[in-house]
Amino acid sequence: AKLDPLSGPRRFRETDAEEARRRVRMTHELKAALDNDEIVYHFQPQIDLTTGRCVGAEALVRWNHPLFGSQLPGRFIHAAEQTGMILNLGERGLAAVAAFARCVNAGRDRQLRFSINTSATEFLHRDMAEVVDRILGESSADPRWFTLELTESMLLNDTPGVLDAFRRLRRLGVGLSVDDFGTGYSSLRLLETFPMTEIKIDRSFVGELPSSESKMVIVRAVIDLGRALGLTVVAEGIETEAQRALLAEMGCPIGQGYLFGRPCDGESFVKNLGSQ
Ligand code: C2E
Ligand code: CA
Ligand code: CA
Ligand code: CA
Repeated sequence: AKLDPLSGPRRFRETDAEEARRRVRMTHELKAALDNDEIVYHFQPQIDLTTGRCVGAEALVRWNHPLFGSQLPGRFIHAAEQTGMILNLGERGLAAVAAFARCVNAGRDRQLRFSINTSATEFLHRDMAEVVDRILGESSADPRWFTLELTESMLLNDTPGVLDAFRRLRRLGVGLSVDDFGTGYSSLRLLETFPMTEIKIDRSFVGELPSSESKMVIVRAVIDLGRALGLTVVAEGIETEAQRALLAEMGCPIGQGYLFGRPCDGESFVKNLGSQ
């Protein structure tokens, strides 16, 4: 069986035919899964690299499949995009994360920020500014708590509707982040075109610090660029103390990765926050 780069280690070996059957089956089951609350969100902490404090979390979708167990997004997001189910999934996800954020931020003086991954499909088939405004309004959640993460490939779709949606999202107070920054082809141009507020340095760069000299140079330059443009810079995939120290020394304000915490369910996330 081919290894799916997004799906992580396999619990058991599947043949190609088994994998194909599982994919077809999961695609058909996704709608019921949403209705049965099998789709849940895990939260991975984001850390202020100067104080060590948790400043928020990225929400990452999981499917608690009754037969196959907890499934990573690599197993079903692509199919959801192709069938249009991503539209339902995205809206339900936003509502779930908004409810969680409101609960966590109630009574906190330092409010946490929450990042949510979005697909190009959602922007192409929905007025996302309207969707976000409505859903956050229904949850009484403050738009300033949220950042939508978009990948460079989706930003290539610079149709006028998308740019307009971005501008209206910014007016609501929602942040806009370029996920996996540096892995696409037009990173610099899109920073000029779109009203972004954040860049996330892809973990393929962070993972090779400090051994790769060229990655060192690139990461330092990206941090400086982001800061010069007034953007929040988040380094993802920090796994070692050496990487943390280096990124902090380079002036990267926020970090995320297994060193600080793996994605975990909401209850564990709150417990780990402790008295922070
Ligand atoms: P991403 O947005 O780049 O998310 C980061 C991925 O890196 C997550 O995988 C996370 O568990 C993993 N990760 C975090 N820290 C480390 C680390 O220190 N080392 C390593 N090796 N990995 C780390 P996950 O949860 O499997 O998500 C995969 C992708 O699925 C995400 O990549 C994102 O593009 C997509 N995705 C996740 N949730 C959603 C969602 O709700 N909607 C949409 N449309 N896409 C989603
Ligand atoms: Ca992301
Ligand atoms: Ca990423
Ligand atoms: Ca990624």
